[in-house]
Order: sequence, then structure tokens, then C-alpha cells
Amino acid sequence: MKALLEVKQVSKEFVIGNILSREKILAVDQVSFEIKASEIFTLAGESGCGKTTMARMILGFEEPTAGEIMYSKEGPKGEKKVWFTQGFQAIFQNPFETFNPLRKVDSYLFETVFNYKLAADRDEAIGLIDSKLRSVGLSYDEVSGKYPSEFSGGQLQRISIARALLTDPALLIADEPVSMVDASIRMSIVNLFKSLKEDLGMSILYITHDLATAYYLGGQIAIMFRGNIMEMGNVEKVLMEPKHPYTKLLRESIPEADPSRRWKDKITITELEHEEYLRKGCKFAGRCPEVMEKCKAQAPETVIVDDVYVKCHLYCSA
Ligand code: SF4
Repeated sequence: MKALLEVKQVSKEFVIGNILSREKILAVDQVSFEIKASEIFTLAGESGCGKTTMARMILGFEEPTAGEIMYSKEGPKGEKKVWFTQGFQAIFQNPFETFNPLRKVDSYLFETVFNYKLAADRDEAIGLIDSKLRSVGLSYDEVSGKYPSEFSGGQLQRISIARALLTDPALLIADEPVSMVDASIRMSIVNLFKSLKEDLGMSILYITHDLATAYYLGGQIAIMFRGNIMEMGNVEKVLMEPKHPYTKLLRESIPEADPSRRWKDKITITELEHEEYLRKGCKFAGRCPEVMEKCKAQAPETVIVDDVYVKCHLYCSA
């Protein structure tokens, strides 16, 4: 099946420091992957792994330093941007930052409808808004005339999703969408993503540090560490039979019955983040329980092992 989105050898370099000491950091380092129509693709990793920078490049908020991001479909001649903004929609981590506390929430929904010329008049707009709110378990009457403070974080995140759905996007980019909502409603939002894929055929780029929800959603997963994809393939295969030492550490820490076993707590940062980015060999060498001499000098190639992409010297023949 043709890819909806193709990311080819994409890198993003940032310069950090001041005029006296400047360093270049590759926040994303030659990353390649593709997302097919009606597919859930998860980018997973701890904070600072490059997953949000990758999403920002896909959304056009950042220009790649190198590589290409290609979309399978373009709008009418000369209107690529129109298709792009309608074809991809994003929802972000903090629903309270999405909405201005002094502005009524429904005004955002009307704004999207009229900006994209999705309805001819207010009545038609209300009908469309109501149908999208109902698809996330709310209704226009529940939202109309209210300010953000009158909703819970979970409700606001649902309204963000409804707003994103107004344009019938081909791809929904969800950046840590459940990390700031109550655990009790987290699964209802994750289930909503599942039904968007299954019922509407929507593709979803799910960005998370939470492997449990990634596993539940299924599809494909790329595990990122310091700008590199360390392992990529079918979610079940990658998480149930992890090959890369980093994935193994993450896998051991998937929260199960005891929520205190969150992997974020388990993995200790032994080096400063930027030192890991600047590391010459494998970026994970400072923490890897299976590190070898060559790992410190030479970055591994990515190889395919049992249909899974792995970037680790343990699997390279040379
Ligand atoms: Fe560990 Fe070496 Fe593999 Fe990196 S390349 S993950 S340091 S074994």
C-alpha cells in the first residue's frame, strides 16, 4: 500500500550554547519511516529523544536540516499548503494551553469551520460541530457558550480532537495527548483513537513515552533515543520480543499492575542529555548493559532482523 507520509533520511540540527561555546546537536539524525493509510504509527521514547522535533517537522513548524518529508497527496495545483493543513491535524499534550482561558471554547470550533469554508452559514456550522463533538462523546449543547475553566482536562482534550476532526484529516498527529489527563479517562481517549482508525480509516501518528498505550493501540512503532530510531517494526513484535538493549530496558518497565513501575522512574539518567547527543559511537553506549568497545567509537548501522529494524552492533555482521 502506498505510504500516506514518507520520512526519508531526515535530520534536524540545533545550535546550543552562547557565543563563546557553541555546539551543534542533531536532535533528529537521519530518521526514515513511513505511515500508510489507516495505520497507527507510534514514535516512542523518553523526553528529549527527538520525537516532538520530528512531529514539528512533519507539521511544517520546523524545516529539516537534511532529508525529505513527502505526502502522498497534494491539493489542487499550487495549493499544497491547503491540502497539507487540512490533511494533517495535530493535538498536543496540554489541553489547557490549546485554549485561551478568556475565550469561549466553541469559538475555536466555529473559527476552524469558517477558516476552512466547511459550512455556508451558522446553522450548518453547528450541525458539523455537533457531529464531530458527538464522535468524541460530547455535544454542541454541552460545549456552547462555555469557557475552558468549565471543562475537565479530559473534556478539553476531547474538544481538541473534535476540532481536529472538523477537516476530516487523513492523518492525526497526537503529541503526548494523554499524559496530562486523569488516568481514569486516559483509556477512553486511547479507545477513541482506535475507533478513528477502525471506523473512519484515519491514520494516527501517536507520540508518547507510554509504551502500555502504544501496545494497546497496535500498528507500527519506532523507538527513539537521542535523535535515532533504535528499533522499528510491528508494535507487538517490538515490545514482546525486543531486540535492541534500549527497547529491552523500556519493555521491562511497561507499567503493569503497579503504576509506580513507570519506566521513566526506572531508567536513571547517568549522563547529561547533551553529552549523549554528542557521543560519537552508539548514543546508548553510556547506559547499555551490553556495551562493547566498538560501540563507543562507531555508530551502528540499521539492519533488518526478523522484519524489525534494529540499530545495534549486536546485530551487525561486520
Ligand atoms: Fe548497546 Fe552497543 Fe548495541 Fe549500542 S550498539 S545498544 S552500546 S550493544
